[in-house]
Amino acid sequence: MQYVSTRGGVPAATYTEIILQGLAKDGGLFVPAQYPVVTKETLNSWRGLSYAQLATAVTALFAKDMNRSTIAHLCESTYTKETYCFGRAGTDFEKITPLHWLNDELAILELSNGPTLAFKDMAMQYLGALFEYVLAKRQENLNILGATSGDTGSAAEYAMKGREGIRVFMLSPAGRMSAFQKAQMYSLLDDNIFNIAVKGSFDDAQDIVKAVSSDLAFKTGHHIGTVNSINWARIAAQVVYYFSAWLQATENDDEEIAFAVPSGNFGDVLAGWIAKQMGLPVKQLIVATNENDVLYEFFRTGRYKIRDSEHTYVTSSPSMDISKASNFERYIYDICLKNPERVNELWDQLKEKGEFLLDNEEWQRVKDSGFCAARSTHEERIERIRKTWKEYQFLIDPHTADGLNAAYKMKLDGVKTICLETALPAKFGTTIMEAVGFEPPVPHGYENLLQKPQKVVEMDVNVQEVKDFINSHC
Ligand SMILES: *Cc1c(COP(=O)(O)O)cnc(C)c1O
Repeated sequence: MQYVSTRGGVPAATYTEIILQGLAKDGGLFVPAQYPVVTKETLNSWRGLSYAQLATAVTALFAKDMNRSTIAHLCESTYTKETYCFGRAGTDFEKITPLHWLNDELAILELSNGPTLAFKDMAMQYLGALFEYVLAKRQENLNILGATSGDTGSAAEYAMKGREGIRVFMLSPAGRMSAFQKAQMYSLLDDNIFNIAVKGSFDDAQDIVKAVSSDLAFKTGHHIGTVNSINWARIAAQVVYYFSAWLQATENDDEEIAFAVPSGNFGDVLAGWIAKQMGLPVKQLIVATNENDVLYEFFRTGRYKIRDSEHTYVTSSPSMDISKASNFERYIYDICLKNPERVNELWDQLKEKGEFLLDNEEWQRVKDSGFCAARSTHEERIERIRKTWKEYQFLIDPHTADGLNAAYKMKLDGVKTICLETALPAKFGTTIMEAVGFEPPVPHGYENLLQKPQKVVEMDVNVQEVKDFINSHC
């Protein structure tokens, strides 16, 4: 299988050639030239596979230039019940991504039982194993540079810690993360993990990363890379749990189900779209947003209008506080029938005017694509957490609450609808307290997190200082 750029300006490449790259050199995103097809027979033959076996089968369709036995090894070592065991007591961790049915038609897909208590561990842990393997094979090393306001950075650090040939330099805004989030990252004492607390905002930290990465001599000389949400290997790894959920939810090969997905950068729900393109019977993909409703607006109107930082609100589902959705281009590429000229045109408009509007045919394709969207406010989020606790004794986090709200708003009668759980409530104590009046339970192993020693260096908002630090540590 070959990968091409959504902007059409780079030569086709293989899976292992693209996975260490971020954006393609033409500014586009890598996508498979064609999605692999999973027939009914194949799908049926996957019933009864373990999660690791299923991940192997799906990954093998995307990673045609890797040996099946290598993929199997990476997946078997990644998807273990020892790694994905931090969820609620009594959960069947053997399943890795178990379904929890609230009623006959509505279930939560537990994706957040990994070490950082958010769904990003599902793909990131695999990415760690994959990077280590690929780098060793090429006798290269990689210095991952990133900025985080919480989930991504910690998922990356937990996935990369102790790995050969990899270092992580993670910038975070000093004093702007929760005590739990800080402790989660800064308590990693591994030699290859470097936490840098920048005395500024997340945007300041992000700007430093951009400045360092745009110094091409420095970037190449220091083997700087990223693991952000546009990374193709992450997307492909996320496709697996849509198959897993469907296999768990259905007995009949034709049964179509729906997914409700708390969305930010559009990576998670894009994986669902890809699963559907591959042949998974998916009736609906329900995009859930919070008050930052760029995607909600698009799926109602066909107009994609990005926001500036003044119009990007701080909400109680903070991991969905986005002004633009970086993976969205991959979906639009499909809607434009994989025509890179049209994608270029739309993204030029976006650059000039901050928005684009699809033409009638494209908009019709969006409406036929199975996507819809719903948005939640803080009050609705709180109410959903409270109700879900009262009715089902199931405590959910604020992002999952947005997903569940969207499921209730858009769900079709008789269609099993699965809401993806993108984080555990333990990460969002204040909001949970507001909703139900008690603190969420602390997962085992996290009891003394706040008391653990921390490793972090503080820095001013200063690009040179960060460069010097990287230089002296690699
Ligand atoms: C990252 C994240 C999201 C958004 O996922 P995307 O793939 O960016 O759409 C939602 N909820 C939580 C808790 C997250 O960490």
